Amino acid sequence: MDALDGNALAGELFVAFGREMTTAVGSCTNCGTRSAVAELRVYVSGPGSVAQCPGCGTVALVVARGTARFSNYELAGP
Ligand SMILES: [Zn+2]
Repeated sequence: MDALDGNALAGELFVAFGREMTTAVGSCTNCGTRSAVAELRVYVSGPGSVAQCPGCGTVALVVARGTARFSNYELAGP
């Protein structure tokens, strides 16, 4: 399965957070890689999508049914 980038989740993230999230920057708590949400590697599957750290592949974000949850990924600011 080919990876998309974080922009693929822009619409769903906007619904979940009420604001544009793809330009938000955070860092992976596993390897420390700093990246914008738009730079995460996104895999879309049936019920939802996951976004992985571009550095180590750790799951950074899970989006499912209108909700989105960051994990192992610390947002740096607004
Ligand atoms: Zn990482």
